[in-house]
Amino acid sequence: MPEPLTLDQLPVTALTGVGPALAKKLAKLAICTVQDVLFHLPLRYQDRTKVTPIGALQAGQDAVIDGEVRLADIMFGKRRSLACRIQDGTGTVTLRFFHFSAAQKNQLSPGTLIRCYGEVRRGTSGFELYHPEYSVVNAQQPPPTEATLTPVYPSSEGLSQLSWRKLSEQALLLMQQHQPQEYLPQQHSRGVALAQALQYLHRPPSNADQAALSAGLHPHQQRLAFEELVAHHLSLIKQRQQTRQQGAPALPYVAEINQQFLQQLPFGLTSAQQRVAAEIRLDLSQPQPMLRLVQGDVGSGKTVVAALAALQAIANGYQVALMAPTEILAEQHLNNFTDWLTPLGVNVAWLSGKLKGKQRQTQLNAIADNSAAMVVGTHALFQEQVVFARLGLAIIDEQHRFGVHQRLALKEKTPLGQPHQLIMTATPIPRTLAMSAYADLDTSIIDELPPGRTPVNTAVISNSRRDELVARVAHACAQGRQVYWVCTLIDESEALEAQAAEHTAELLKTALPQVRVGLVHGRMKAADKAATMQAYKAQQIDLLVATTVIEVGVDVPNASLMIIENAERLGLAQLHQLRGRVGRGGTASHCLLMYQAPLSQQGKARLQAMRDSNDGFVIAEKDLQLRGPGELLGTRQTGLLQLRIADLQRDSHLLPAVKHCAEQLLAQQQPIVAPLIQRWLADSEQYAQV
Ligand code: ADP
Ligand code: MG
Repeated sequence: MPEPLTLDQLPVTALTGVGPALAKKLAKLAICTVQDVLFHLPLRYQDRTKVTPIGALQAGQDAVIDGEVRLADIMFGKRRSLACRIQDGTGTVTLRFFHFSAAQKNQLSPGTLIRCYGEVRRGTSGFELYHPEYSVVNAQQPPPTEATLTPVYPSSEGLSQLSWRKLSEQALLLMQQHQPQEYLPQQHSRGVALAQALQYLHRPPSNADQAALSAGLHPHQQRLAFEELVAHHLSLIKQRQQTRQQGAPALPYVAEINQQFLQQLPFGLTSAQQRVAAEIRLDLSQPQPMLRLVQGDVGSGKTVVAALAALQAIANGYQVALMAPTEILAEQHLNNFTDWLTPLGVNVAWLSGKLKGKQRQTQLNAIADNSAAMVVGTHALFQEQVVFARLGLAIIDEQHRFGVHQRLALKEKTPLGQPHQLIMTATPIPRTLAMSAYADLDTSIIDELPPGRTPVNTAVISNSRRDELVARVAHACAQGRQVYWVCTLIDESEALEAQAAEHTAELLKTALPQVRVGLVHGRMKAADKAATMQAYKAQQIDLLVATTVIEVGVDVPNASLMIIENAERLGLAQLHQLRGRVGRGGTASHCLLMYQAPLSQQGKARLQAMRDSNDGFVIAEKDLQLRGPGELLGTRQTGLLQLRIADLQRDSHLLPAVKHCAEQLLAQQQPIVAPLIQRWLADSEQYAQV
């Protein structure tokens, strides 16, 4: 059997002390190879490199202390404890144990010399250390202190810090025999080799800049984060190249049907819509697949632009799939596309998880035999049974980013190979994130709202002022305006949310007998929902009590007041989406964000951000700052961008150089691209084919 040579080929079981049981525990943390151990970096460090004289101790400090036990006594204060006084000639300090054994008390007999490590605090008897680590030492030969800072690793149950230190110790030794290859050009690695950075971060020298280390901004950490980000960037670009190489049907622009469509619209396109539509028009006419992301604020009119793209494909005899992340959003698209396209003679099919039996089969048949040119649906479109006769364009309306592999799954669904891809984001994405998470896509931005929108005034109001709000509703309704009252329960079931909305509607009906109150929630039958929405549009309802189902697709220009309950529990993107339902007419609009006091620091900052801005891009940047990229990109769901070391937010300043470095490697050092990606993304499913 040939000797494995690289660190990523050496299994963890190559390390002494790692048997099947430990290997299994490590595998749960996705640590399978020696390289994985090396990439598992400490969370923080302890300084055990020098002994502090007891007389020099300060509260709050973590310190190594050598001392002689004077006495060890069981104390009966508020809580029974073992108190052990030690001294070293400069002073005395108490070690306090709330859990202890008789053997421990005996071991700490007067005269014993011990070394201990722990946090110094002010206690009843002066400085104390609670539950310090300690060991009995030899008076003649006190052991040397640690030569390096002591790493503290992220861990899980059953894996002690000592085990982690043993693992990393051995992995570092092995690294000396199996030096990892350098991939970064000198100018980007700043002269720090990968092995050097790993060695440093597992065992920093005693004089290391600890503040920089704990902020993740030490040059050696940044060196690794940089390489990781380059690997991610490369993998996305590679993915893009592979997709583009496979070709797609060229779908030239057909002026006639386009004109027909625009003529039947009740409005003209904004210049931003026209610009983006032209970019898409050009992409589609090429024999390579379009890979384009359309960003735009809530209400900027992305759907019409998508419809124009769809028409171009359909005019060329191809099918279009439009996929939305939720049933409600998909339904909304279905309504729009049915209204817009059926007058042009286009058949629209519908597919969702809820559609069952014969109805489902009818839709599947229409998709398979090409009698439906436009297909709207949810994730259900990805399912195996769905086969397109001639899929030419896939439009994906994203709430969170779908994985690259999910999008690619659509291409398996057509015998013709690759469709063009148009991705629309439901809310804007901060620039730095877009640059890294969407590096495989070209980007268009609709940076203009349709005319006639008025900015919404937003105020933040405590639940305790509910009566005032009810009075405001009465006032608005008396003036002929319409109002939304949004009930939210995050992390609760749709059923509970519906109940809360029903309850609120009853209360408001009682409080406002002169106001016509309607109710919509996700548990209602589609037909009932539609009827209520229709009545609201027709101004037969003044006050619409709703759950977050109205987040999307409701368009009532006369509605000028929105009240959102428990606003502090919603994400900024979602609040912004909701608020986008008002401010659609000529009158000044208001959005009142209710919260339950007391607000957390973060909650305050988030509601403040909503009050301060109506611009989705600004709000997205703020959301990134406050919540981090995982939440924004929805990586929890998709498993995308599982970074080991880099942090998109902390390291966003690296991204321009990352992009540059990735391009340089692609142009000049093709052969190392694959191994570099492999090194950092080996276990990431979506890159398996790279
Ligand atoms: P979003 O970009 O949030 O998906 P939509 O596509 O749903 O926005 O459009 C929001 C509303 O604006 C819809 O009612 C749509 O018909 C309308 N709209 C789109 N473009 C224009 C325009 N150029 N002029 C006026 N109204 C428009
Ligand atoms: Mg939309």
